[in-house]
Parts: sequence; C-alpha cells; structure tokens
Amino acid sequence: MSNLLEVKNLVCCYGDIVAVDDVSFTIGDGEIFGLIGANGAGKTSTILALAGLLPISSGSVILNGTDLASVPTHKRIDYGLALVPEGRRVFAALSVNENLTVGGTRLDAHALEQGRSRVFDIFPRLAERRDQVAGSLSGGEQQMLALGRAVIAQPKVLLVDELSLGLMPIAIDHCYTALQHLQKEGIAILLVEQSTERVLQAADRIAVLDSGRIAWSGNSQQTGTDASILNAYLGLTDSELTTS
Ligand code: ATP
Repeated sequence: MSNLLEVKNLVCCYGDIVAVDDVSFTIGDGEIFGLIGANGAGKTSTILALAGLLPISSGSVILNGTDLASVPTHKRIDYGLALVPEGRRVFAALSVNENLTVGGTRLDAHALEQGRSRVFDIFPRLAERRDQVAGSLSGGEQQMLALGRAVIAQPKVLLVDELSLGLMPIAIDHCYTALQHLQKEGIAILLVEQSTERVLQAADRIAVLDSGRIAWSGNSQQTGTDASILNAYLGLTDSELTTS
C-alpha cells in the first residue's frame, strides 16, 4: 500500500505546552488509521495540525507528495484533505441540503448534484430530512451530516475527530458503517477517538498517543498480543481487548 499521507516528526505547541511531540505515521489509500489515547494525549491537536488549524512548530505533513506547510486550511481540500470536526459543527440554521452545498462549494453544479446523491445513498436518513434545518437534527443525524458535508468535497483523506462522542450506540453503528463504505470507495481515514473499542474494530492500524508521543503503534489485530501495552496506556482489560 503506497503512502497517501505522511506525517513526519510533527511537533505542535500551545505556548510552553508541547501537545504533539515528534509524532510520525503514514496512511495508505483506503486505509483506516486510528489514533487513540487518554484525555489530553494530543489527538485533537494532531488532527488540527493536519487540517492547518494549529501551527506546526516543526515536522511536516505530506499529502500525495505535496508538503502542506504552505497550503492554507481552506485550500487543503483542493489537495484532498477534509475534516469532520469534533462536535460536528454543522451550520445549525441551514438545511441539510444547504449544509451539503457549503461542503461542495468548489464543485460545479453537476458534480455537486452527483455528490449530493452519493451522500444520500450512504445516508438515506439525510435524504428524508433534506429540507430540515440542521440544528433540529438528532446528534447522530448531525454527525451523518458532518460526514456527508466532508465527503461531498471528494476528499482522498478524511480526518474524523471523535466520531462517536455523545451518540447513541445505534447512531454510532450507522456512522461506522458509513466509514467502512467510504473506505471501500478508496478514501483513507484518520480516526481519532476516545472510544477505543470501536476504533480497534474499524481501523487497519492504530497508534496510541500518550502525552503527545506515540507510545505504541501497529496492526489493530496485534492489540490482543500486545495487551499489556494498551492496558498501560488506555486502561483496557484483557477481555475488552480480546472481544474487540
Ligand atoms: P481530549 O480527548 O480530551 O480532547 P486530546 O488527546 O484530543 O484530548 P488535545 O486536546 O490535543 O488532547 O490536548 C493535548 C494537550 O494540549 C493537553 O495537554 C491540553 O491541555 C493542551 N491543549 C489543548 N488545547 C489547548 C489550548 N487551546 N491552549 C493550551 N493548551 C491546550
């Protein structure tokens, strides 16, 4: 699998606080890469740095051979990078359709309508609610809309921050099913979650962040054999690991 996204020796700081400390990983085409870790481990900071929303102190982010250092946030989608932010951040006063239109701003009218149909195929619930204002959707529906708004822009890499936070299990199932669908279409996904079990099931590979550094990384099936490591960093029990 060739590397679509390469994160090399990434360092990000908030003043004197080093939030991301020499983090390196790669993601291949159509791969789901999970980044897990306890509160404050640096997961969101990593994703924000990749999206261009947090300055990088040193290191680099290379997408499809292009160093993104000089590419502003709003241009990164032109290179194939889209963000599904923590807390969904849908435009509450706009309808489902209008939110999708915002996501597809850079598309021509034909591509926009094709993208809208694709999103509605993945999320039939959104099609049923296309004229409803986003602020009145359930949390799960808002997460579907946040995913749809990113996907309509035809990304190669999707950055997803806390997909399952605050959602009912059934809504989480729908969102994870959608991720697998997108993966089959060849989209690479960086999945940042506190809810470790889901990530272990969905991701091909994972990295565990601890105090801004990668403490463990490997194939998600390996986690059973390296249980003691995950136990130490995430407090998961052996049975939680073997059932995942
Ligand atoms: P959580 O799951 O709780 O959001 P996280 O793994 O996403 O945690 P980050 O939010 O990236 O972790 O935080 C990493 C470190 O950076 C923490 O020590 C946090 O306190 C610090 N930090 C995050 N945002 C800021 C900020 N705006 N100003 C100062 N420090 C910050």
